[in-house]
Amino acid sequence: MAATTADRPYSQGEGQGLRALLASGRPSFSFEFFPPKTEAGERTLWKAIRRIEPLSPSFVSVTYGAGGSSRDRTVEVTKRIAAETTLRPVAHLTAVGHSVTELRHIIGQYADAGIRDVLALRGDPPGDPKGEWVRHPEGFGQAHELVTLIKELGDFSVGVAAFPERHPRSADWDSDIRNFAAKCRAGADYAITQMFFDVEDYLRLRDRLAAAGCVTPIIPEIMPATDVRQIRRFAELSDARFPDVLAQRLEAARDDAAEGHRIGVEHATAMAERLLAEGAPGLHYITLNRSTATLEIHQNLGVRERPGGELAALPR
Ligand code: FAD
Repeated sequence: MAATTADRPYSQGEGQGLRALLASGRPSFSFEFFPPKTEAGERTLWKAIRRIEPLSPSFVSVTYGAGGSSRDRTVEVTKRIAAETTLRPVAHLTAVGHSVTELRHIIGQYADAGIRDVLALRGDPPGDPKGEWVRHPEGFGQAHELVTLIKELGDFSVGVAAFPERHPRSADWDSDIRNFAAKCRAGADYAITQMFFDVEDYLRLRDRLAAAGCVTPIIPEIMPATDVRQIRRFAELSDARFPDVLAQRLEAARDDAAEGHRIGVEHATAMAERLLAEGAPGLHYITLNRSTATLEIHQNLGVRERPGGELAALPR
């Protein structure tokens, strides 16, 4: 049973969260980072964060590690962004490998740091993301249970995952849509998609969800495909289909980093333009902790800081 407002320990007042921002109708733009493993990686991440900060993105998110110390680093990086920058951090949190008590503790840590935005995910099996999914004996089996918990604990804006090519483990489209609808019913305020390289996949998902009565805003994830080796690895891990034409162009530029970069930025810019023209509620850029490619795409879309610090509107 959902807690009443009085039961909720972490309250920030209605309308302050990300859901209010998304309801404004203005496209959001956001950037995703991952917790670095080394001091050099930490420096690279903070360089990217500081380059992105003046653009006043709607939010930045930090992915949750598969296990152990990388999970602690996610919490540390997210809290540091909240404390030391002007950015709004969204904390990814996965249910896999955690008891409900542990999940409550992590959510409490975020609340204490003033963080009220969480992306609630089930997570993949640690070690082998394609291996058997084993539920923690005192934990959750699906993301919608985590959404419910976070919503019960306080006034959080909660995002969830969406899959333009459907989740690789789902039996069929119907069950995939039913699962997404369960996350919406649990209170998801928005969704961010898995990476994809064909806008039609996003549009089909959007239409399927609309037909099922889901009105949750679905923010497409933009991944600049600049290096054929790297992108094939990611696509394989996430089961994202990689269009042949793009693969061939990148393959031809395999040993020419500048040309690969140009192709990746060009393709992602074209996708972003079309997605916004189709009414996508925003764009979520995967940065891989570097800012150059994503900032180029963003600038290609015509977003500049005005002298007063206000941003020029994204084209719709
Ligand atoms: P759920 O919504 O619970 O389910 C996913 C799919 O599994 C469903 O579509 C459904 O088809 C199937 N399914 C679920 N329950 C059942 C059932 N009972 N019977 C049959 N089928 C079922 N992973 C990380 O480890 N850290 C991150 O930071 C992270 N960030 C992400 C950010 C985004 C934007 C996205 C899209 C994914 C992210 N992931 C991350 C990956 C994510 O954890 C995996 O894709 C995971 O496999 C699914 O998570 P979910 O929240 O969609 O799960």
